[in-house]
Amino acid sequence: MTEQLAITPGTTVRLAERATRYEGDQFDKKQAADIIHENAKVMANLAYRLYAENRRALLLVLQGMDTAGKDGTIRTVMRGVNPQSCQVISFKQPSEEELDHDFLWRIHRAIPRRGNLGIFNRSHYEDVLVVRVHNLVPETEWRARYDKINAFERLLSEANVTIVKCFLHISREEQRERLQARLDNPDKRWKFSKGDLAERKLWDNYQQAYEDALNRCSTHWAPWHVIPSDRKWYRNLMVSQLMRQALEKLDPQFPACEPGLDDMVVT
Ligand code: AMP
Ligand code: MG
Repeated sequence: MTEQLAITPGTTVRLAERATRYEGDQFDKKQAADIIHENAKVMANLAYRLYAENRRALLLVLQGMDTAGKDGTIRTVMRGVNPQSCQVISFKQPSEEELDHDFLWRIHRAIPRRGNLGIFNRSHYEDVLVVRVHNLVPETEWRARYDKINAFERLLSEANVTIVKCFLHISREEQRERLQARLDNPDKRWKFSKGDLAERKLWDNYQQAYEDALNRCSTHWAPWHVIPSDRKWYRNLMVSQLMRQALEKLDPQFPACEPGLDDMVVT
């Protein structure tokens, strides 16, 4: 069900041609909820094994325009996984200390340690997205970052970190509705900032920046997936599936126990 989501390395996708809204009839919202629930149980068990095995790590990278649903995806998909073996890192504007280092410094420190499952809510990709759109560094500098990102992710994958990258793809109209909903709902208004409207005006620039990032940084060791995200339940279902598949592929094993435990009795 997720085959068509990955960007094949070496090909070029046009975001305008990729669906933002699932229109198929293979699943509905109710079935999706059941599958996500089942996946969560399977994932909890596999994450437990990953933790026990303590050799490899799994990293989910979530990117998307404002309101694309990064927080909602994490809430729904990771429900049920033991918090001890899982960590969520949200990348905000870099601090002064972070800006005094190379752009990957803060990222590298946040990579999940072996045995763990990490989730990035935004990531090093901001350094070729918001940074590019707002000219926060000279063009020569951000242009050089795609290769650096690919090399960095290769280093991670060779160090047994499996990377699953998801771009939550929404339409401009869907974003309008969601921003309006944030304004209208007292419980959501805290999420709204006037700056969101200024960013929205730069929609086309962001889409272009995303398109380049996805095309240039979809590699065999860390491919991008474009998730149609106008429908939240479908978005959650796809990310849930990708995470389950990644964990199943890792197939983590309990470590060997000390010999001679079979006949031991605790007195
Ligand atoms: P939010 O995810 O809504 O909490 O917002 C976090 C903000 O931090 C967004 O506006 C991002 O664009 C911004 N941000 C994240 N990483 C960077 C970065 N490397 N450089 C500049 N801004 C960033
Ligand atoms: Mg925000």
